[in-house]
Amino acid sequence: METFDFSAGQFLSAVAVDGRGKTQTRAYSIASAAQANRFDFCVNRVEGGFFSNYLIDMPEGEVVQVHGPHGNFTLRNPLTDSIFVATGTGIAPMRGFTQWLFPEEGRHAGEDRSGGRQIWLVYGTRHASELYYRDYFERVEKEHENFHYVSTLSRAGEEWSGRRGYVQEHMSSIVTRRAEKAAAVMSSQAGTGTAEAVAEAVTAVQDVMVAELPVFDIHTYICGLNDMVSAVRGRLAEFGWHKKQVVFERYD
Ligand SMILES: Cc1cc2nc3c(=O)[nH]c(=O)nc-3n(C[C@H](O)[C@H](O)[C@H](O)COP(=O)(O)OP(=O)(O)OC[C@H]3O[C@@H](n4cnc5c(N)ncnc54)[C@H](O)[C@@H]3O)c2cc1C
Repeated sequence: METFDFSAGQFLSAVAVDGRGKTQTRAYSIASAAQANRFDFCVNRVEGGFFSNYLIDMPEGEVVQVHGPHGNFTLRNPLTDSIFVATGTGIAPMRGFTQWLFPEEGRHAGEDRSGGRQIWLVYGTRHASELYYRDYFERVEKEHENFHYVSTLSRAGEEWSGRRGYVQEHMSSIVTRRAEKAAAVMSSQAGTGTAEAVAEAVTAVQDVMVAELPVFDIHTYICGLNDMVSAVRGRLAEFGWHKKQVVFERYD
């Protein structure tokens, strides 16, 4: 196959026969943007699991059957400011999104498809060694002022000087800071700048966001295990976000 086309964020279904002769199928997100006939997977070894071990232990040159692309975990059009929230291998589709927005290879290399939208990637793992593609995301952050890489560890040792805690906490601060910023702009336009005016304006901005639906100005894309996805969705619901502003993929 010369080209393999898919939308960033989609997954493939991999099929193989296990030791007992049973056909097994598992989904794996594509961890890259479409690029000729190549793509990446980001697979975590699940202890006692069949397919993750099968893929990871596959000798080079061996063939595995896949079908797809499948799924609707893709960037909504038109692109808005976006928060990507991932834990573990949930980073896979986010890498696809990021490569698509800021292509470095192929005939679109150097193009910027982000249109100046603010993009935050909030990525959580337990330990620093599990922050997959760290160098890549740090580089993109350095090269694009509208891309913000927010990594956080839940079980970091003393030596870690970065952020700690769960992704939902960091995502919430981004949402709050963004609303405050919008409110400050509104209140300065109204010629006032008192704390009260800012607080009123924050509420006004949130009301506008709800009232003017389905015209949204931000989306959150969430990928990982169900507990995390539920926690993040719960927070966004508390902020009054509409369901359509929240796009998610659950691995379990
Ligand atoms: C849309 C979609 C995209 C996915 N993309 C990826 C991806 O990019 N990378 C990736 O590594 N996985 C991904 N997964 C998960 C993947 O499909 C498998 O579930 C995972 O690899 C485990 O399969 P297994 O055959 O090794 O384990 P199984 O034999 O299915 O399970 C063995 C045991 O492990 C538990 N278990 C299953 N999955 C997990 C998990 N993810 N973490 C911890 N425990 C688990 C099960 O409850 C079971 O007890 C995705 C799932 C979905 C639905």
